[in-house]
Amino acid sequence: RRVTGAQVRSALEHDLNPFTKQQHFAQYKRILEARKKLPVYSQMDEFLEIFKNNQIVVVVGETGSGKTTQIPQFVAYSDLPHTRGKMVACTQPRRVAAMSVAKRVADEMDVQLGRQVGYSMRFEDMTEAGTTFLKYMTDSVLLQEVLDDPTLSRYSTIILDDAHERTLATDILMSLLKKVAKTRTDLKIIIMSATLDALKFQKYFSLAPASLFELPGRTHPIEVFYTQEPEANYAEAAIRTVLMIHRGEGPGDILLFLTGKEEIEDACRKIKLEADDLVNQDPDSVGPLMCVPLYSSLPLSQQQRIFDQAPKPTMPNRPPGRKVVVSTNIAETSLTIDGIVYVVDPGFSKQKVYNPRIRVESQLVSPISKASARQRAGRAGRTQPGKCFRLYTEKDFMTQLEEQTIPEILRCNLSNTVLQLVKIGVTDLVRFDYVDRPGPEALMRALELLNYLAALDDDGNITPLGSMMADFPLDPQLSKMLIISPEFNCSTEILAITSMLSAPSVWIRPPNARNQADAAKASFTVPEGDHLTFMNVFNQYLTNKGDKRWAYDNFLDMRALTQAENIQGQLERTMQQNDLPLLSLTDKRKLFQNIRQVLVCGFFMQIAHKEGDKGSYLTVKDNQVVQLHPSSGLDSRPEWVVYNEFVLTDRPYISGVTEVRPEWLLEFASNYFDLKAFPDGETKRALQRVQNRRLGRAEDSEISAVSKPRKNK
Ligand code: ADP
Ligand code: MG
Repeated sequence: RRVTGAQVRSALEHDLNPFTKQQHFAQYKRILEARKKLPVYSQMDEFLEIFKNNQIVVVVGETGSGKTTQIPQFVAYSDLPHTRGKMVACTQPRRVAAMSVAKRVADEMDVQLGRQVGYSMRFEDMTEAGTTFLKYMTDSVLLQEVLDDPTLSRYSTIILDDAHERTLATDILMSLLKKVAKTRTDLKIIIMSATLDALKFQKYFSLAPASLFELPGRTHPIEVFYTQEPEANYAEAAIRTVLMIHRGEGPGDILLFLTGKEEIEDACRKIKLEADDLVNQDPDSVGPLMCVPLYSSLPLSQQQRIFDQAPKPTMPNRPPGRKVVVSTNIAETSLTIDGIVYVVDPGFSKQKVYNPRIRVESQLVSPISKASARQRAGRAGRTQPGKCFRLYTEKDFMTQLEEQTIPEILRCNLSNTVLQLVKIGVTDLVRFDYVDRPGPEALMRALELLNYLAALDDDGNITPLGSMMADFPLDPQLSKMLIISPEFNCSTEILAITSMLSAPSVWIRPPNARNQADAAKASFTVPEGDHLTFMNVFNQYLTNKGDKRWAYDNFLDMRALTQAENIQGQLERTMQQNDLPLLSLTDKRKLFQNIRQVLVCGFFMQIAHKEGDKGSYLTVKDNQVVQLHPSSGLDSRPEWVVYNEFVLTDRPYISGVTEVRPEWLLEFASNYFDLKAFPDGETKRALQRVQNRRLGRAEDSEISAVSKPRKNK
């Protein structure tokens, strides 16, 4: 295999598509001309040489230099995977990037997306067995594949893209690939990174300097502005800044970084309203503005709108239009939007934060790192000199921001990963060859949870149950529920609930129809709990599928429901492979009770107990004071609840909440609710009373309940 740059270039210029043997479409040549202008294109020969001579290559280059779209194609020309029944994999930390880049590369190669070029992510596979040879995929999907195929025998080259993002899955894949590379000498590995972390990766793989492929930076100067005072409300400040730019600055598109879907949709609406006002008032000095949101749950077609051209002037001699992209961190490094001249950076992103002491993982809006802030600013100087408006003070930038974003492995719940590692035979989790070693407490918590779930035995060995759990692309609590649900004759229902919990939220609450939306939601609410409400919505969706208006009329997100149904189908297949039947009961009372019992079997570590009559709850064992999230339909305030998520916003909440009986805690999770080892407090006393009743000493418990000293407050 000695493909040269000259050969690749001649293949690219050929009239026939080498992969389909078809005549190229007209747009092929146009796109090819754009590709030739990318920095990476002029270094094709150098890349092919380094790639040929090294098993593991590190590629470093500025965002937008063409790494993600071009390198995998160069590799495909070099490997010719389709002639050998193999594939080239290119992982992405984010779903949006996997999809969007695959689409772009399919266009560049002039093939249909999902055929020669495809993408794969959890619950969504757009590849064709035997045809796809270039596969963009999320890093977690590749990690899941390792469980069935430890040497990744399907692939000729694995490219780990955006490795600098240091997601948990990419980190673990680096460790596993380091090992696989020793036995599979034919497997090529490329680590791609945007910032200059190259040295860290080179060291980790003990690579020679010659295995580094560096792309020159190519950014124009960027002027950075700070605020004089800290901003109290960054979202409002961001909207103000965008409008200020639109009114006062020269032509060029704007990229605004916000943290999540609601915030982004809200900002888009407000920016659009105000900008339309401006244009109406003063059409001669303000151009039209188009505002495009970008976040992960958007469908591909809407994501692609970020690449649309800014609007034309309303009349020939009037100011040009402007595009504003309001995006999550996706646009920081994974996707490059040409034409951005202004960046507005409020300095926040949503980040996973795990507190092993109280076993709580949450998505928190947190300050970004300096490295992130620099990346964001860099997005302004891609095509011409640009400006970056930071909505924080220079002093805060210097003194408050961390140098680098902390790798995910150091700040997330590891239970899923630990189960996967144990399944593929990693026995010593502490001494495993991590890129960055997680804290012992986080590892302990993961092992402890898996042990309580009976996925690992007391010696840390995987049990048959644990092995089956690892087959499901789900958190261990959910896979445990699915696996035991047939024993409770409610696997059909648990499957529906699990699918709904794995899909985006189905509730729509438009600002101009909040009351109607709330009323619609109330009509689905099952009094015993949100999990049953989810199931109810899902079942009604299936019944009303023929009716196109049903979801709309009920303020439900059709896309999320379709996705839930798709997830249900896939999980059902995994259940079938593991001989797990779909069962149900006709006695509704019994059915609802069994469902709630299964919830306890999976989520016994997420139980909360009502705290006196203050309306708040205490999480069991960790004693965090929490409120029921406003989105919960559980109005009866039962004494004991199981919850799906701990949500930290203005204060701690629990969401996805369902009533449970305390005796189930003792019956189905007796190891965890071992009262001898339980912290003292109201919760323990309440459980003790239940325990006594269970043991038939009802009288004793009455007495202790009465004689218990009452707290005065
Ligand atoms: P890197 O991975 O180095 O950040 P990419 O390969 O993602 O760079 O991007 C290279 C170029 O391809 C960018 O200039 C970008 O504008 C262009 N590009 C990527 N996706 C699309 C798309 N969907 N439509 C138009 N241009 C695109
Ligand atoms: Mg990239």
